[in-house]
Amino acid sequence: SSLTLPQLLERAASKYPDRTALSFIGAKTSYRQLWQDAGRFAAALQKMGVQKGDRVSIMLPNMPQFVVAFYGTLLAGAVAVNTSPMYTPSELEHQLTDSGSETLVMLDTFYPRYAEIAARVPVKRVLVTGVQDALPFPKSLLYPLKARKDGTWVKVPYGERTLSLTKVVASQAPNPQPVPISADDVALLQYTGGTTGVPKGAMLTHRNLVANCEQARGWMTDLRDGQEVTLAAIPFFHVYGMTVAMNLSILIGATVALVPNPRDLKMVLSQITASGATLFPGVPTLYNAINNHPDTPKHDLTCIRACISGSAPLLLETARRFKEITGGANLVEGYGLTEASPCTHTNPIFGAQKEGSIGLPMPGVDAVVVDDSGQPVQPGEVGELWVAGPMIMKGYWQRPDETAKTLREAFGHTWLMTGDMATMDEDGYFRIVDRKKDLIIAGGFNIYPREVEEALMTHPAVLEAAAVGLPDEYRGESVHAVVALKPGQSATEADLIAHCKGLLSAYKVPRSVEFRTELPKTAAMKILRRQLAQEAKAARG
Ligand code: ATP
Repeated sequence: SSLTLPQLLERAASKYPDRTALSFIGAKTSYRQLWQDAGRFAAALQKMGVQKGDRVSIMLPNMPQFVVAFYGTLLAGAVAVNTSPMYTPSELEHQLTDSGSETLVMLDTFYPRYAEIAARVPVKRVLVTGVQDALPFPKSLLYPLKARKDGTWVKVPYGERTLSLTKVVASQAPNPQPVPISADDVALLQYTGGTTGVPKGAMLTHRNLVANCEQARGWMTDLRDGQEVTLAAIPFFHVYGMTVAMNLSILIGATVALVPNPRDLKMVLSQITASGATLFPGVPTLYNAINNHPDTPKHDLTCIRACISGSAPLLLETARRFKEITGGANLVEGYGLTEASPCTHTNPIFGAQKEGSIGLPMPGVDAVVVDDSGQPVQPGEVGELWVAGPMIMKGYWQRPDETAKTLREAFGHTWLMTGDMATMDEDGYFRIVDRKKDLIIAGGFNIYPREVEEALMTHPAVLEAAAVGLPDEYRGESVHAVVALKPGQSATEADLIAHCKGLLSAYKVPRSVEFRTELPKTAAMKILRRQLAQEAKAARG
């Protein structure tokens, strides 16, 4: 399709003008209103001098202003730059500078982090908003949402360069200057690499992002136009939430129930029931956390019909338990990566699902498993997964060398080399073995951490587990496990090692186990193996 993202929203607004597009803890925005607000935002950007191709960084959690700013930016022909609200000042400085963003849209509570680096970045104007701008409640009720750790409110120095987003939008008419936008224009810079090296901006075009929504819809064939309610707990500032929770919802005219913080499980649970969510895209750590939360039994979660789990392996036990507490919701595992907008594989919602597999390539996706010389391997053999299709990025922003290392022309396609080791079976179903870079080599044997983690997770007391390689004088590397136990449960290092011995060959069994109350995660709730490895190395001296 050659539609652009603003065209998707325009279509939804004309088909379902009065349907609720966004619901945010009680505040509702119709599709008509959302389209107009995006138009006002675009007009405001144009008035401030923003032109086609300019970058606009958006540093917001899931809230109505995110959707307005994102679609408004695109409507003005500009490029949105997703900016993680978890960034430290130096990470924020790197991204604002690398992307050359002259406009920044941010939540008031994040302002102090920007203030620290303001003199060193190209930003010319900051549009600030707060939760109170989206909600019809008195300030006092919002206090818990807004207070800093020390209980004070952040003071934003409004002035010529720092403006209130609400005021800027309200002062404009909803008709920006029309800007010609083509499907091959870049819509989004999505930074990746935070866990694996220098962050690079993947350039995703309108065609990439729209194609991925259509591919996802094509797979989940029973999505009902104009009738679904999507629980958006996974963040839009990550491309997985952006495509599956936000853009796909707009494509099908769904109501999006926004949850600003996926770690606030009480809020996640209450928003599922309050919104009557039918679709709940998520990540394994989130489903697992819901399975184990003490408040879960107090909520009726049977409204949920379909869930897609991505970003990390979904354990069978997590899926089984989640299906049980939702009265049979269809929870399927998928796979993707930032550079692919992001979805490439899922288990078919109605076809045969294979446990432990990421399923089949989605419609329009070509996938192949290759050896080190780039030749396809036999079914069942492990190699690197390459994918091709209309959702593959244009390249990395201003990094032709990195692009050349990641995209490759072969067999008549442009392939994205995923960096993930995988297998394909006789039926064409794929399995992710693990990341190439996370491989542990102990005594000459290859160990994929995932296998060790899965063994640890089968112990009844284990809530979360990560396996990493530590330098070892004799073996080169040895397996170290970091584990968080379920509340109220106990297990010792010896217990867990004994448990693994029953399941794994000797060389794969962890030599040491470290306990934590919680494992560190990325903003997309992915366990940070690399950080755990660094910390464990540092602890050993
Ligand atoms: P960053 O690059 O920002 O540090 P990242 O490397 O995790 O983070 P993403 O694009 O967010 O990059 O995530 C893509 C990766 O997530 C894939 O390459 C793969 O390793 C992993 N992944 C995604 N889905 C699955 C899945 N179902 N099973 C196993 N691994 C998965």
